[in-house]
Amino acid sequence: MKPALIYSQRFGDYCYGDDHPFKVLRYQLTHALFDELGLLGNERVDVLECPVATEEDLLLFHRQDYLERLADFSASDTPRADFFYGLGDVENPVFKGLYDWARLVCGGTLEAADQVTEGGRRIAFNMAGGWHHAHAARASGFSYLNDAVIAIESLVRQGLRVAYVDIDAHHGDGVQEAFYTSDKVLTISLHETGDDFFPHTGYVREFGRGVGYGYAVNVPFIRHADDRLFRIGFERIALPLLKAYAPDVLVSQMGVDALRTDPLTRLEMTTASIEFAALELKRLDLPWVVLGGGGYDKINVARAWALLWGILSEQAVPDLFPSQFVAQATSLGLPTRRLRDLPHRASDDDHLRALKALEGNIRLLEEVLFPLHGVTTGAVL
Ligand SMILES: [Zn+2]
Repeated sequence: MKPALIYSQRFGDYCYGDDHPFKVLRYQLTHALFDELGLLGNERVDVLECPVATEEDLLLFHRQDYLERLADFSASDTPRADFFYGLGDVENPVFKGLYDWARLVCGGTLEAADQVTEGGRRIAFNMAGGWHHAHAARASGFSYLNDAVIAIESLVRQGLRVAYVDIDAHHGDGVQEAFYTSDKVLTISLHETGDDFFPHTGYVREFGRGVGYGYAVNVPFIRHADDRLFRIGFERIALPLLKAYAPDVLVSQMGVDALRTDPLTRLEMTTASIEFAALELKRLDLPWVVLGGGGYDKINVARAWALLWGILSEQAVPDLFPSQFVAQATSLGLPTRRLRDLPHRASDDDHLRALKALEGNIRLLEEVLFPLHGVTTGAVL
């Protein structure tokens, strides 16, 4: 069956505020770029309307009192705050319709999960999903409801084992925390180290607890890590563990804020890392729920997810933007460069420092996790 894109015009209806780095415009730009590249409206793909999650769905993970507060705050334009629930600060602003927005994106991820299970598809992509920082009763990191956790929990309750892979520049803390004591979900996050970076977790020694020990995996990179290091971390740790775990369903968070042109992060990756991860995950040939994630340069989001969607739907994407898209972006004051980045390498000093740090982490992960999963060091490449 064809891959499905879950989309709604309503993705563009919400606003975190003029000064907030997250802009819903990125979804409209991404959709426009898909369209102008001819990646939609053809016989290779289906586009499905994004439904809204019900309260019953949200209660799979979130607490009732938190949902009530979200609903209450969402109904009015008056600025309000409740820091107990992480609501109303600069990071997680309260704005009219925020609960509708958060329920909409959760609905999309649940729909994607349904599509790859009961629906019989291999791939479903919810670009508006991937809110990996939300906790059961607290907003965090621009995330109000954790769509990934809700969908994974629904899959687990169907008796399925799930692997979650997160390539966003930030640690997927909310998802790791939700399944930290479970062996039914393997969480793997590759991210910028939490030493001096949000959410200050995702250290290599966070392995899980109880029966979940060995089922939380973290590959932190220090700043300036580039495509070469991403590839090493992904090939040496993520892929062997994914193959050994052999999940029923794969869920991946494909945030693009690790790109060197993202304004919030210090990694130096290019679109090559996004394409590499997408191709390798596709080769696993599992029912696959693909989610969006971070990305604070709007053009980066559009181009990186166009390349991703090209791989998911087996359609070629050119190196350069179509002229109509350039005109549209220019009219919005957004500079466009290339669609697919040229190769980039960090400086030798930065690279060697980041490589040394990564090698230490890999040694530890191999030593502790590989025996638990029956992986022989270096055997799976
Ligand atoms: Zn991020």
